Amino acid sequence: MTPLQPQSSVPDQSASEARPIQPLPDELISQIAAGEVVERPASVVKELLENALDAGASRIEVKLESGGVKRIYVADDGQGIAAEQLPLALARHATSKITSLAELESVATLGFRGEALASIASVSELVLTSRVRGAAHAWRLDNLGTGGSVVPASGAPGTTLDVREIYFNTPARRKFLKTQQTELSHCQDVFRRMALARPDVAFSLSHDGRVLEHLNGTSSGERVLQILGSEFANAHLGLEVQAGEGLTGVRLTGFLGLPTAARGSAAAQYFFVNGRFVRDKLLTHAMRAAYQDVLHGDRHPAYVVYLTLDPRQVDVNVHPSKVEVRFRESRGIHQFVMHAVQQALGQGGGARVTQAPAAQNPTSLAELAQWRQQFPLQLAQRAAPFALDRAESGGSYAPPVQHLSTVYPQAYAQSPASTPDADAKEQFPLGFALAQLHGIFVLAQNAQGLVLVDMHAAHERILYERLKDGLDTHACATQQLLIPVTFNADAREIDCALQGESTLAALGFEIRAVSPTALAVRAVPALLADADVAALARAVLRDLEQFGASRLLTEHRNELLSTMACHSAVRANRHLTIDEMNALLRQMEATERGDQCNHGRPTWQQFSLADLDRLFMRGR
Ligand code: ADP
Ligand code: MG
Repeated sequence: MTPLQPQSSVPDQSASEARPIQPLPDELISQIAAGEVVERPASVVKELLENALDAGASRIEVKLESGGVKRIYVADDGQGIAAEQLPLALARHATSKITSLAELESVATLGFRGEALASIASVSELVLTSRVRGAAHAWRLDNLGTGGSVVPASGAPGTTLDVREIYFNTPARRKFLKTQQTELSHCQDVFRRMALARPDVAFSLSHDGRVLEHLNGTSSGERVLQILGSEFANAHLGLEVQAGEGLTGVRLTGFLGLPTAARGSAAAQYFFVNGRFVRDKLLTHAMRAAYQDVLHGDRHPAYVVYLTLDPRQVDVNVHPSKVEVRFRESRGIHQFVMHAVQQALGQGGGARVTQAPAAQNPTSLAELAQWRQQFPLQLAQRAAPFALDRAESGGSYAPPVQHLSTVYPQAYAQSPASTPDADAKEQFPLGFALAQLHGIFVLAQNAQGLVLVDMHAAHERILYERLKDGLDTHACATQQLLIPVTFNADAREIDCALQGESTLAALGFEIRAVSPTALAVRAVPALLADADVAALARAVLRDLEQFGASRLLTEHRNELLSTMACHSAVRANRHLTIDEMNALLRQMEATERGDQCNHGRPTWQQFSLADLDRLFMRGR
């Protein structure tokens, strides 16, 4: 006997001679594909619910046994499948939803790959029963070794899928399934997302004979209450914003949890793009950035947000389970979502942000405030679409750059006695500061009339552009802190700081672990030395974790710089001296003249003397 000889049924392929290349059998292809599509019972629930919704169902019943591992039963009252089409429904790459590449690019259904049912059927025992409207009875097809014939059956109009014993034939995969309770809760997550995506559809869910949810078709407000509970229902703001030119047809609606409804985890964050639940980094980032002014630290806002847009503007075919998407105008969408949410949160009191009106001059302080909240949106819309950077736009799109020279005439009218001579005036088209209004705006006088500056937005923009320049030229000056700023950090943050050390260094940060639960910031980018260092470091670590070191400084660089700039820009209600205001104006001029693209948020607005005359009905 040779006890050291390993006993294995797996042939030692490295030793065997080269095997011939052969096409895989269809069944095996489906089983391989199933690894992507059917990760666990919840993925089956998702695919079957999507099919039911695509079939126009108004009522969907889901029954699970043993966390879905034993049985997943989904019945709908949708359009059904004709008897002769039933075998095709189970065939791989067979779909009724698209027929051409052009249709793929504008696909509006949830499914289109034609592989879900085939994949599910390859790893389970499946019975498909369907009856189209007007048919005398239903028809049935199964994969239980009955020879694949379609036989008459009883059943109401619509379709029923009965899926049993997932992975019974692939025990290795079955071993990966977790406890029934865990699988059930994943199924419930999927169910809740679908229920939120389509409030108009009635859904029910039962498990081992016990009814867990029973939802009638209703309004989206009611559905959100049903799914997220009264705590959220009592502490949210409505959101309804229509983007304008450049992002025509893009709409954002939904419900934003107030900071008081925030949670310890991100579980109550629902983002839907054209009715599809997504967990998309760009959108998550936009939401987090929008909340960062009102929500500090590690709390996660709750929200249910629906983005709708022309399907051609978004590629949903970038992920096997379609939870990530790619927008054609990614930067524009990011900015639109971020500012729409920011402004809705800024309004408070349940007020709605609606379609931003055409640019008009405010006539009262209240209107001024309202205008300030709405106007940035308009500019965001006007500026969009602009690409994140040239690489992403493929050089095909020239962002609309707002040049000061096209806005400001070179001639100057009268100026206050204290302002410098004509040369200086030519040099300083934004004029000279007069005062600060409500801790938010800087008022300045220039040749044309009044310049109104959004202090925070302007400063943010300046920092953003300078950070960008610094990175472009590898000249991000670092400021060593005399006393390192220490803050409590969790394992992920510490890990991130360690792993991302060189990326952080490239940005000008030096962040070290000083204990298993604390990080110390020893250096920050010199431009940001005035920031709340701990909050800034946390935000940068979050971006680093989310985007990964390799992509943070490339495709997600501008988002990161936005985060950094926003954290460091002057806040509302910071008193500025006239000198500081003038310094801000000068920095703005330098920045705007730098031929940079507009990043979506206006930082100043001109009111000419003629505009002001009109306000007082002074017919000149
Ligand atoms: P896909 O949804 O990507 O087209 P599936 O494998 O999920 O692929 O479904 C294949 C086809 O079977 C669908 O295109 C559709 O025509 C049909 N089908 C599946 N489920 C249903 C259903 N519940 N009601 C009506 N038709 C269905
Ligand atoms: Mg499908």
